[in-house]
Amino acid sequence: MKKTDYSEKGESFMLELKQFSDRIWYSMFEEERDRPCLGYIRGDRWSVAVDAGHSDAHVEEFYDALEQAGLPLPSLTVITHWHWDHSFGMHRIHGLSVANAATSQYLRDFAVRVAHEGEDVFLSLDESIRKEYAGNRPVVIVPADLVFENAMGLDPGGVQVRLLRSISPHTDDSTLVLIPEERFLFFGDAISGVFPTWERDPVKAAQLGDSIRKLEVSHCLGGHWPLMSKREILDDLYEG
Ligand SMILES: [Zn+2]
Repeated sequence: MKKTDYSEKGESFMLELKQFSDRIWYSMFEEERDRPCLGYIRGDRWSVAVDAGHSDAHVEEFYDALEQAGLPLPSLTVITHWHWDHSFGMHRIHGLSVANAATSQYLRDFAVRVAHEGEDVFLSLDESIRKEYAGNRPVVIVPADLVFENAMGLDPGGVQVRLLRSISPHTDDSTLVLIPEERFLFFGDAISGVFPTWERDPVKAAQLGDSIRKLEVSHCLGGHWPLMSKREILDDLYEG
């Protein structure tokens, strides 16, 4: 597969895959094109990705990194929330996608809007989007293949994965991805405020904190941050 060599300044950003354990890997986020960290959970029988990414190019670069690490492509991709940088690569994923019902409905609604009003409705949201979609990259938005309401369990073999819909100050469609044996949580952008002002409702932040506090996790990875401890997440959420 061809590597995308992207940069305004001429340097190239290679997608870096980090290994947390013999079950969990993740790619690092990139601010320039607003690309979030993507997660990967290796089961004995099949594997799970956490978030699809910003575009087909982001998916392909993630898959290149997985192949270089000798990891099978995911059979299932969990979407943490509907925002474009996490979901608009869904049309290019290997296997199926799963999201909560609200996330899938937001994707359907936004696809209709883009079809009626044109791609500018999306491209005008942010400069980082225009960079990701430079060169007339087509905007393709698809809903999830599988949908759940409040919670769902996955058993890809040798490791359990729990999908938990949660209150969040970022969006009202947040899914937390818990891997109990690894004491690991993927939380998407759940700890953020709302796009584009980043104002954060302190009540919802504290409610999310209460949910995460009850989970037996040590490490937490979101879309746009380095790996965090549970303590760091809770301190952030309860600060107001
Ligand atoms: Zn988001």
